[in-house]
Amino acid sequence: MIFVTGGAGFIGSNFVLGWLAETDEPVVNLDKLTYAGNLDNLRQVREDARHVFVRGDICDAALVGRLLDTYKPRAIVHFAAESHVDRSIHGPGEFVTTNVNGTFVLLEAARAYYAGLDANAKANFRFVHVSTDEVYGSLEPGDAPFTETTGYAPNSPYSATKAASDHMVRAYHHTYGLPTLTTNCSNNYGPFQFPEKLIPLMITNALAGKALPVYGDGRQVRDWLYVGDHCAAIRRVLQDGRPGETYNIGGWNEMGNIDVVHTLCNILDELAPKSGSYRDQVAFVADRPGHDRRYAMDARKIERELGWKPAETFSSGIRKTVQWYLDHQDWVSGVQSGEYLKWVEKNYGARNPAQE
Ligand code: NAD
Repeated sequence: MIFVTGGAGFIGSNFVLGWLAETDEPVVNLDKLTYAGNLDNLRQVREDARHVFVRGDICDAALVGRLLDTYKPRAIVHFAAESHVDRSIHGPGEFVTTNVNGTFVLLEAARAYYAGLDANAKANFRFVHVSTDEVYGSLEPGDAPFTETTGYAPNSPYSATKAASDHMVRAYHHTYGLPTLTTNCSNNYGPFQFPEKLIPLMITNALAGKALPVYGDGRQVRDWLYVGDHCAAIRRVLQDGRPGETYNIGGWNEMGNIDVVHTLCNILDELAPKSGSYRDQVAFVADRPGHDRRYAMDARKIERELGWKPAETFSSGIRKTVQWYLDHQDWVSGVQSGEYLKWVEKNYGARNPAQE
């Protein structure tokens, strides 16, 4: 059994689906179902006895402790977070609560649980903390990509809270000997990404005939990785990573935001043609405050030590992603109309299964 947090979100649900497809090992999945958590992402495994879903908060120490004692997982894979930079600018409090305090609660529970394991279970136990490249700050054009030894310089409330959680995870290894591993990954894209993030926002707005809002001059550079490749990297780290280490994960795919948007428009022009080009819908808007200029990841450590490499190129992954959104317009409209929130209310509104 492994214990996943945030497994109803974008990356977490891709991880759970991939895990259950690739292994026979059950998963207990703790997720608060914030606006970003969507049980519809897990529709495929709703009837699968290997998947135990628990609606609850990682900040709830009693609940987390009880789940660890009940399910006795051999590993924790921690995805749960508030993850949207823009939301962190408008309301940083929730980011501190979940990303910093929630991770602390989880670490404390893991420490107590680990202390009670026998020597064999201790040797096999792992705590994998899923983090971001944004903790390293911003690069100038021509700067070398971030490595695992690059100093932390977070610039947004989101990245500052993720940086704080990374430090706590590191400290729990050094201070208490908890076998933690941290992964820092670049921007993900793929199925089930909430349409507030760049790529799904552009696809869904384009198809709805709405403006495609591009911040500032659109020349901000990000490294992009297909979500399935990120999940495969996390599985490699869980399997063979060295406790106490951090691993950068990236796709070696640096692109300017405007180039990403133009690529999406070109694919949509081909797959969902309309009169004129989707490019005509691009609209430049005022830049995000403190917007980092460039992120780039040096992923050679995980390639060298764990033999991981992305399977998708940007052009193959982005095409798959556009096709997925075209094929899953029901998912998109469910998210946009709040249908899935109604489903959650209907199924979990009156009672919290975690308390049973
Ligand atoms: P997401 O916002 O799509 O999903 C987050 C999930 O966590 C949701 O299901 C939400 O309900 C759950 N959650 C939030 N607060 C919770 C709480 N207090 N208790 C329990 N569950 C809670 O995020 P994502 O894009 O899937 O990111 C997952 C992780 O990966 C995050 O830690 C993020 O920092 C990290 N990451 C994301 C990216 C990216 O490009 N999306 C890149 C690198 C790292």
